[in-house]
Amino acid sequence: MRVLLLGGTADARRLAGRLAGRADLDIVLSLAGRTESPVPQPVPVRVGGFGGAEGLARYLEAEGVGAVVDATHPYAALISRNAAAACAATGVPLIALRRPPWVRQEGDDWREVEDVAGAVAALGDTPRRVFLALGRNEVRAFAAAPQHAYLVRSVDPVIPPLDVPHADYVVARGPFAEADEHALLAGHGIEVIVAKNSGGAATYAKMAAARALGIEVLLLRRPALPDVASVEGAEAALAWLDARRHPALRGE
Ligand code: NAP
Repeated sequence: MRVLLLGGTADARRLAGRLAGRADLDIVLSLAGRTESPVPQPVPVRVGGFGGAEGLARYLEAEGVGAVVDATHPYAALISRNAAAACAATGVPLIALRRPPWVRQEGDDWREVEDVAGAVAALGDTPRRVFLALGRNEVRAFAAAPQHAYLVRSVDPVIPPLDVPHADYVVARGPFAEADEHALLAGHGIEVIVAKNSGGAATYAKMAAARALGIEVLLLRRPALPDVASVEGAEAALAWLDARRHPALRGE
């Protein structure tokens, strides 16, 4: 059975690793192509958009895809909606691998904002030292608030740099350790963090370090995702695929 795995996340890569040795499954991992040097993947990869829900539906039919696993980032809502629409139109079974959001703990100083523009506004007029843990395209909006000093961390370099007088850059890819995040935030005297509520362990360390240091966190609201069948872990996704592969297992 041919399986389209929509990826771009560590979860997708882990699942691909579990599926790589399966002789009964023909896996294709799809990436949007956002990062300049994506990490190696254990299965064949295709890169780039499909051309909306219609393009994806055409791809599913042309490639004879028998099942789709949506393991994209929780903030990549468009591709998830397209997958839901394309699978509904073609009758191809779909499962979403969803990552539950982080939950506020005692000592957390979190404020939810609607989007990047909301975060820019929430920073206020008084100059602050801000850590931006966002995608390199999203940080561009902060040029509208040049009174702040920014520390920007992204997977690829921010080129050209932000048009603000005070900005430092860190190019790094998670996972990050709490001690390192603590040292980074304290070393730069960070007063507020802007981040996504991505869930999972790989990028949580900054949240724990912020709690320990009493740093405010502005969290972008999670986008609404389509109402499709979903599971939380790779094991459950594997079980779902097995049930598609062997209909007897699901009582058909
Ligand atoms: P998006 O807004 O959901 O998708 C935009 C378009 O990109 C889609 O319509 C699709 O183009 C194409 N696309 C997205 N994912 C694809 C995939 N796996 N395979 C093929 N095409 C894909 O997603 P995004 O622009 O990638 O990201 C939106 C948000 O998610 C941003 O906030 C970004 O920072 C975040 N994100 C984070 C991570 C991470 O690992 N930290 C990874 C990805 C995204 P067509 O319509 O042409 O098919």
